[in-house]
Amino acid sequence: MTSSRFDLRGKVAIVTGGNGGIGLGMARGLADAGADIAVVGRNETKSADAVADLRKRGVKAIAVTTDVTNTAAVAAMIDRVVKELGRIDVLVNNAGMSIRKPPHELELDEWNKVIDTNLTSAFMCSKLAYPALKASGNGKVINIGSMLSIFGASFAAAYAASKGGIVQYTRACANAWAPDNIQVNAILPGWIDTDLTRGARKQISGLHERVLARTPAGRWGGIDDFAGIAVFLASPASNFITGTAIPVDGGYSVMT
Ligand code: NDP
Repeated sequence: MTSSRFDLRGKVAIVTGGNGGIGLGMARGLADAGADIAVVGRNETKSADAVADLRKRGVKAIAVTTDVTNTAAVAAMIDRVVKELGRIDVLVNNAGMSIRKPPHELELDEWNKVIDTNLTSAFMCSKLAYPALKASGNGKVINIGSMLSIFGASFAAAYAASKGGIVQYTRACANAWAPDNIQVNAILPGWIDTDLTRGARKQISGLHERVLARTPAGRWGGIDDFAGIAVFLASPASNFITGTAIPVDGGYSVMT
């Protein structure tokens, strides 16, 4: 009875950026709970490795090479997932990137690239997946925000704008799609050890130690920390939870 609340067998999940980092952590969790997975990313080698990893967990997995900033490619991706995996029950909008510069040095094309990748892609993927999510009867959208959905940072104006925006976008969709029994929630990761933050740690001396000192849990997060929350938000266990933004941060956002 308890486990059936978290049972994703027979469901299909799309995970953008599912070929590495936090996306792969979530895809593994969803696969372990029984969901078939479409891994969406640009890097074919990383995606092939992720698909092999997921298939070992006993589910169907496909890689759909897609730049999520390209609307035509996103439309083709959604069509292919429905054609090959039969349905869409869960959409995880996780693909993201950052350009670290103070706001007065950020160029317009850099601003647009960050907003397109982190925010507009979630809009397009969700909009185009909506008919299939509605047909599912219990659709789930999981958007990935950040501590910069809450806090400011001098080096991340476009990133913070995109991550603040994703929380408000989550709330709008939660309202709009509740009558369709689609729940829409956001996860706000703290500082997690991935390619994204490995780059940041190279650029910013002392970042590693500052995060450790500021995080009550006393450690950086790992990608495995996202498996459980992904399963919870994708499963019937969260059917009365919508429009929230849940920090997964070792207490970073509640540190006094
Ligand atoms: P990674 O750099 O490890 O992963 C980013 C993923 O996004 C990759 O799989 C990449 O795939 C994909 N991606 C990026 N741009 C595109 C694009 N245009 N089209 C398709 N896929 C794309 O970073 P994380 O795992 O750390 O980040 C995942 C999410 O978590 C992001 O939204 C990030 O902002 C957020 N986050 C991360 C935190 C952290 O501490 N790590 C903290 C807070 C939020 P490919 O290489 O194949 O293009």
